[in-house]
Amino acid sequence: MSYQETWIEPTELSFPYQDEIRNGESGQGYAMRMALANGMIGLPWVKHALSKTHSAVLDASDAPFLAQWFGASVQLLEFALERLTKGRREQGFRYAGQALGRQYFLTRSFPRVCPNCLRELGHCRIAWDMALTVACVRHRRVLLDRCPSCQRSLSWNRPALDVCSCGFAFEMEDVSVQPTASELFLARVIDQRMGDFGSPEYGHDVASVVDDEAAQALSALLRNLSLDGVMRIVYALATAAMYDLDSQIKRERSSLSKARQTVAIASAFSVKVARLDATVLRTHRPTVLVDLLTDVAASSRASPEDLSFAHSMLGWLMANASRSGWGARHASLSQLELF
Ligand SMILES: [Zn+2]
Ligand SMILES: [Zn+2]
Repeated sequence: MSYQETWIEPTELSFPYQDEIRNGESGQGYAMRMALANGMIGLPWVKHALSKTHSAVLDASDAPFLAQWFGASVQLLEFALERLTKGRREQGFRYAGQALGRQYFLTRSFPRVCPNCLRELGHCRIAWDMALTVACVRHRRVLLDRCPSCQRSLSWNRPALDVCSCGFAFEMEDVSVQPTASELFLARVIDQRMGDFGSPEYGHDVASVVDDEAAQALSALLRNLSLDGVMRIVYALATAAMYDLDSQIKRERSSLSKARQTVAIASAFSVKVARLDATVLRTHRPTVLVDLLTDVAASSRASPEDLSFAHSMLGWLMANASRSGWGARHASLSQLELF
């Protein structure tokens, strides 16, 4: 009997092993965990049953089916899956209860894991889906985005939570790269914004932030910002720093190394911003940066802290820009009606 002949409607399916989605668990990770626990081949099976392509990403519209199959509440599942605004990602979207303004704030197709967390918690954490989460605060390690054995990027279609598509099982000791203080700080900020505090002793081991100038500067800049505000400002700082650098920086290619580079550049630049150094912006195209900041201002989702930060950073950039010359070329920017 062929697969087609045994096909039943997705709405009629229900599996014997049922479980609620856990606090801090990624929606896609839940679908993978539950399909595997019920003997199906993980997300490839889930996507097939939902008539999605192999490379598709699950979103909130899939929640009713997953809830029916695996026993989670629709509401909690929707929370843990990407919810598009009127079906269009360009207009922003919600993820884990957070409004986010840019699709690159999420890492959608290239999963990252902390093998230690997978071992201890048995689920994929939702904070790993944020593009700027590059480290695990609990285990003080850089996340794994590449198989230590075959060197390929990890896939959501892998055969188990902690096994690569090549069959290699991640070990806790694998590629235990030491994170920087800024990476740990940012990972903690994102965990906190997403309400995933983890173990009771969580946080005390990021004391190294206190001794690190860049992490301290980031900490001062990001205080009280929403998750969207944090993402925007870190990317804006990195963009500003790129303009400020004499030579072209070689951009990293993989999602994780690109994010690590963004965090490194942004935190180094935040030291200058904190000191209000007379940094010269040698740019002819400040558009990306200004767009990021003015979008904060235009967004109805922005908190008062986001707005006031965007405002002061724009003011600071304008002041420096007029010194460097691009302010003259973009005189209209300083007239911008922001608030
Ligand atoms: Zn971990
Ligand atoms: Zn592999």
